[in-house]
Amino acid sequence: MRILIVEDDELLASGLTRALAIPGYAVDHVSNGEKALLALDAEHYDLLVLDIGLPGIDGFGVLRRVRERRQTLPALILTARDAVSDRVRGLDLGADDYMTKPFALGELEARVRALLRRGHHAQSAQLSCGALLMDTLAHRAWLNHKAINLTAREWGVLEYLLMRQGQVLSKDKIMQAVCNWDEEISSNAVEVYMSRLRTKLDPAGVHIRTVRGYGYLLDEADNARP
Ligand code: CA
Repeated sequence: MRILIVEDDELLASGLTRALAIPGYAVDHVSNGEKALLALDAEHYDLLVLDIGLPGIDGFGVLRRVRERRQTLPALILTARDAVSDRVRGLDLGADDYMTKPFALGELEARVRALLRRGHHAQSAQLSCGALLMDTLAHRAWLNHKAINLTAREWGVLEYLLMRQGQVLSKDKIMQAVCNWDEEISSNAVEVYMSRLRTKLDPAGVHIRTVRGYGYLLDEADNARP
């Protein structure tokens, strides 16, 4: 999951980034509307956390342009303005949720999880493939009903594969999905995560197949082609 935070208050932005750095989530931060629009063009995001009062293009302007471009990612507006007319305007422009500053970080985290869930797999926080079950809300995973331990990065990679079962995913896409801008992981690192995940998943018949020259594909044993 990749989240973009647009907030010009540096202190608040770093608090938000920390709060949302849930294992397996990649969080990027920009401080104005222009940079937000550039970032949204360049990367795929699963959620936009958007301040309204920004230098230059404000949050309303960003949201309007995002929706004009038919980018459907969920948007959560954060603002100091609590006037009803601002809330209505935000929602009319296509915001999915709205929080007034100051707010409790715990509530923000819960709303973010709800929006991510809504965006990706409408009703359920549970993803499965064969014997593998992942609860993205509880942040737990099971193989044949036995809990398994995953590192934060393994979690991020596996969740990404699981949400896109049956699709071949390139190393670049996988890296982009699990890393912040500040982090550099090499394509070798992706291979390492895949090999660790395979060690955990293979015995239960859940396979990450390598598609030579392109990437990876998550599959159950029964569906695997030679
Ligand atoms: Ca602001």
